[in-house]
Parts: sequence; C-alpha cells; structure tokens
Amino acid sequence: MKTYDIPTEQWAQVVEAPGGPAVYKKIPVPSPGPDEVLINVKYSGVCHTDLHAMKGDWPIPTKIPLVGGHEGAGIVVKKGSLVADDIKLGDAAGIKWLNGSCLSCSFCQQSDEPLCQSALLSGYTVDGSFQQYAIAKAAHIARIPEGVDLEEVAPVLCAGITVYKGLKESGVRPGQWVAVVGAGGGLGSMAVQYAKAMGVHVIGIDGGSEKGESVKKLGGSAYVDFMASKDLVEEVKAATPDGLGPHAVLLLAVSEKPFQQATEYVRSRGAVVCIGLPAGAYLKAPVFDTVLRMITIKGSYVGNRQDTAEALDFFQRGLIKVPYKTVGLSQLGEVYQMMEESKIVGRYVVDTSK
Ligand code: NAD
Ligand code: ZN
Repeated sequence: MKTYDIPTEQWAQVVEAPGGPAVYKKIPVPSPGPDEVLINVKYSGVCHTDLHAMKGDWPIPTKIPLVGGHEGAGIVVKKGSLVADDIKLGDAAGIKWLNGSCLSCSFCQQSDEPLCQSALLSGYTVDGSFQQYAIAKAAHIARIPEGVDLEEVAPVLCAGITVYKGLKESGVRPGQWVAVVGAGGGLGSMAVQYAKAMGVHVIGIDGGSEKGESVKKLGGSAYVDFMASKDLVEEVKAATPDGLGPHAVLLLAVSEKPFQQATEYVRSRGAVVCIGLPAGAYLKAPVFDTVLRMITIKGSYVGNRQDTAEALDFFQRGLIKVPYKTVGLSQLGEVYQMMEESKIVGRYVVDTSK
C-alpha cells in the first residue's frame, strides 16, 4: 500500500471572526479519527455559500476559527482504523458540503442524509477544503472516478450535485422546459448543463450580456436579462413554444425578488424549487393562483450519496462542461469580492499549492 509523507503544517484560508475576512496563513495539519480520512486537497471550487459563511449572514452560526470550502477535490493520504478497504490511499476523493451524518436516524436510514439533525457541514460546522489537508467522514466522501481531472470536477462537488438533485426534485421530464434563475453563476451554469443532458429545454435568467452568452453557449434555448427586461414574467412565458410557461423553475439567485416572482411565470401544475439562500429572504405567492393553477413550491438542499455518484457519472461521461477560472488559494479574497458584485460567470476554483 502507498504511504504519503504528511507535513505538520499547511497553508489555509482562515476566518478568525464572524464577518471575516479570511486570512491566508499556516495552520497545523489535522489528523483523521477512526472513521475519517485525510484528503490532500488539490483544488476547491468557491461556492456562494462560502461567502455567506464568512459573512455570517445565515441563522445558524459557523464554527470560529473557520476554514471554509466544500468543493474540494484531492487524494486520500491517510485513513482511520475503521475505514473499510474499499477506500485506498491514493484514491481520488471529494470533500462535499455534507462532511458526515449519523447514518442511523430516520432521515439517514431513508437516504435523506442532508436532513440529519447531527450532520457535519464542511466549511461551516467543521473545517472545509480551503486548506491543503482536510478531514471528512469516510462514509460521505465523494468517490471521484479514476482519471477524472480534479480541477475541472471540483465545482461538481456542491454546485453540480445540488442542481442535479434540484432538477430531480422538480419532476421536470425530458422534452419539457425549466427556467434557471441565476443561470450565469456557479450553480446556474451547472443547472443549464445538467438540464440539457437530461433532455430538458432551458430558459436562463440572469443579468448582463456576458451571462447571456454563457447560457447560450452551455445549451440554453433562451435567455432573459432581469436587468434589461421590461416584463420578465411575459418574456419567460413567451420563451416556451405554447406561451404557457416553464414546467419547473430552479431558483438559484442570491436575491429575494425572483423568489416572489417565480409563481407568476411557472406553468400550471408546475414546480418552483428554491435552492439559493439569500439572507433573511421570504417567499411570497398568491394563494388563489397556487390553488387554481396547482403549483408546487418546495426547497431542495444539496444531495445524498447516491445523487453524488449520479452527478459525478454525468460528469465522467463528458456531459458537464462549465466555465471556470483557477487562481491560487491565497487569492480567495479577490474571488469573494467578484462574487459579491455578481461578476463571476461560472465558477472560480482555487489551487491549494499557490
Ligand atoms: P453565484 O454568485 O455564482 O450565482 C448567483 C447568480 O445569481 C449570479 O450570476 C447573479 O448574477 C444571479 N442573480 C442575482 N440576482 C438575480 C436576479 N434577480 N435574477 C436572476 N439572477 C440573479 O452563486 P452560487 O454559488 O451559484 O450560489 C447560489 C446560491 O445557492 C447561494 O445562495 C448559495 O448559498 C446557494 N446554495 C444552495 C445550496 C442548496 O443546497 N440549497 C447549495 C449550494 C449553494
Ligand atoms: Zn456550495
């Protein structure tokens, strides 16, 4: 069996107080417990959730000090004594949002692990992937198939899994239409590609022409610019062949307004799936329309281990190609700045060696 020389210190981005910033510094390399593995993280995607975590703008507090990050792709370099033989040193593996769960509560037993009351969350309640060596519960690591490019696959580990699950939760079927709100961002770009791979037509909604070009390039059938549109609801409905609106809406934007608007353009009998988590936001929908048009409104939260394997399988088959840019881990602050200003098309990935 391979062995790895593991250093005692490593580079990391550490949030030292709620509100941030993240500080690039050296910290000790952690040691895995009996049911855990240590992953040498090579690349990590940067999710908008990491920015929420640093700002502390959600109702659940994070650990402090905190190493963020939950789209970490790397290599297993050490494992605890209880970890089964099917995980070997040298295997490619991913740190995802769900770092661990109890595996015995009624949710875990039914494969709803994200709903486990004692779930551990990477880059939120436990340290995540913005460091060179990160720990995860062996049962929950993403098994990255051999030969897959670690840099390119990193964003699948949250963005990909989450939108793939959201599309399944929406009930949309091949040949039908989905509106993706926030289609130029990290989750949105993935959603356009997964929907296309599932045979679903996409109407992308986001702001600005650069994001519009990206949506079209990724296979979207139509693009509605929320900043330029005079009547967004009518434009979205008009983008479907019969003018009755999309069968499903995936809400991925980090602002409240689209959450108030989606039931106006979703098709009767359609589903509005909430995935984005704008701070302090509320949903609003007219009861009358919701009833008479039989609209479903629901939430969708990451994915379970099976969703992870399926999302990775789509990627391995070459069906998921999303624009990304790579910078050094030391430049995380610049990525957060661009994210805050909605300037990112696709995803940023950080290289933990720089
Ligand atoms: P991102 O910043 O990459 O993308 C957000 C996109 O929304 C941007 O392109 C922005 O221009 C667009 N946008 C803003 N206002 C809009 C509007 N009014 N209409 C249409 N588009 C608009 O962020 P991301 O990494 O894709 O994350 C999106 C959200 O999803 C975050 O709140 C994140 O925390 C959340 N998230 C949820 C889950 C889950 O399991 N439910 C998982 C991962 C991320
Ligand atoms: Zn995420």
